[in-house]
Amino acid sequence: MTWDFSTEPEFAAKLDWAREFVRAEIYPLEVLDLDHAGFRRIAKPLQQAVKDHSLWAAHLGPELGGQGYGQVKLGLLHEILGTTEFASYVFGCQAPDSGNAELLAIAGTDEQKARWMRPLLDGELLSAFSMTEQGTGSDPRQFTTAARLEGDEWVLDGAKWFVGNASRADFHIVMAVTEPDADPHHRMSMLIVPTSARGITTREIGLMNDPDHKNAIWSHCEVGYEGVRVPKENLLGERGEAFALAQKRLGPGRIHHCMRWVGVCRRAFDMLCERAVSIDVHGGPLADKQTVQNWVADSAAQIESARLLTLQTAWKIDQVGAQAARTEIAMIKYHGATVLHDVIDRAIQVHGSLGFSTDMPLEQMYRWARAARIYDGPDEVHRVTVARRLLKQCQPAKVPTEHIPTRRAAALEKFRDRLEEFSAAQ
Ligand SMILES: Cc1cc2nc3c(=O)[nH]c(=O)nc-3n(C[C@H](O)[C@H](O)[C@H](O)COP(=O)(O)OP(=O)(O)OC[C@H]3O[C@@H](n4cnc5c(N)ncnc54)[C@H](O)[C@@H]3O)c2cc1C
Repeated sequence: MTWDFSTEPEFAAKLDWAREFVRAEIYPLEVLDLDHAGFRRIAKPLQQAVKDHSLWAAHLGPELGGQGYGQVKLGLLHEILGTTEFASYVFGCQAPDSGNAELLAIAGTDEQKARWMRPLLDGELLSAFSMTEQGTGSDPRQFTTAARLEGDEWVLDGAKWFVGNASRADFHIVMAVTEPDADPHHRMSMLIVPTSARGITTREIGLMNDPDHKNAIWSHCEVGYEGVRVPKENLLGERGEAFALAQKRLGPGRIHHCMRWVGVCRRAFDMLCERAVSIDVHGGPLADKQTVQNWVADSAAQIESARLLTLQTAWKIDQVGAQAARTEIAMIKYHGATVLHDVIDRAIQVHGSLGFSTDMPLEQMYRWARAARIYDGPDEVHRVTVARRLLKQCQPAKVPTEHIPTRRAAALEKFRDRLEEFSAAQ
């Protein structure tokens, strides 16, 4: 096992370019109040600059025109992209399109790749991942949206909930029950459903961070599928394989989520520190108050721990694959979401009423950060996964292994001869 925390100079130079580009070209977009169409227009030349620097859709393997960077490098890039919600789109790796492209790459036929994946990668199409059903999102085994094969067509009926970009997407990848008699993990399949198909209804939902659903990048929708017909060739992967495919989609993607949260934390932390050294209260700078110093010290340690844990998980995925890193992948989810919340919370507090106002980006960051504990599986479910997997490695013991009187008796037995020698010599 080798440990190396350095970044290759060539990739470090790319990260430097990305950091400067994001600050200079993308941060200003945040304050322009752009709508979705306006944002897409203004993003075009910026996307070209990213392509020119070989950082477009960087999550893809070389066979798909990407660089095959691996999860550690992608993590470092996402830390930079996470500092603003606009950057992922400009870099061609925004959710849910990036995950959907990966799904199509893993499971798509040549025809599906040509029709849906290629234009998705080129930024010509938008997509949605339609999985959650209200009240059962944490337990997909309960989903009821179903598709049946009628002749050469799948007929889809059901309702989905909180589907990112369903109203703006050109196609949805839908998880539907196609094998009702199979075991719970093999009942669902994935279908590619063009949004032009008849029988689809979408209602945009107001969110805590976007109550008027005006966000320039994402909408979130309740979706109805009523007698929606798609050709049978629109099955993605094998019948009954949706569960396994969804796992593949979510594993490495979580590294990107968590590193983006680290990026958000860094921006909030910079604001926290700047404020601390900028104002005087009760006879001295805020930075001299011990409470504020505690916030700075605790935030720095938390950010660093979330970052290292996530990069270590990325490294493990690169070395031995996502399956072997399942415990760590679950762990970074709830740890990262907690750190994200805590750091933004302190940054708001140090700004007082200014932090609570819309004159600073912190209140928006805070509202969006709340979602991190829910999406990508609620934190509670990931905690259960981690605890179960760790506990599985433990054996029950009638007497605790570390029980001191028992250990003392064993140690006396083990060293009896030598102890007797010592006492004879004294
Ligand atoms: C911003 C955002 C974007 C999203 N984008 C998409 C998308 O693009 N496509 C899509 O399909 N879905 C999307 N979702 C939905 C997301 O996947 C679900 O919200 C998530 O899986 C939780 O499901 P649920 O909301 O139905 O919660 P429920 O299943 O109703 O669970 C409610 C609560 O119960 C508790 N709970 C659940 N299980 C356990 C357990 N085992 N132990 C202890 N407590 C438990 C948790 O506190 C949980 O928050 C998105 C959600 C958000 C917030």
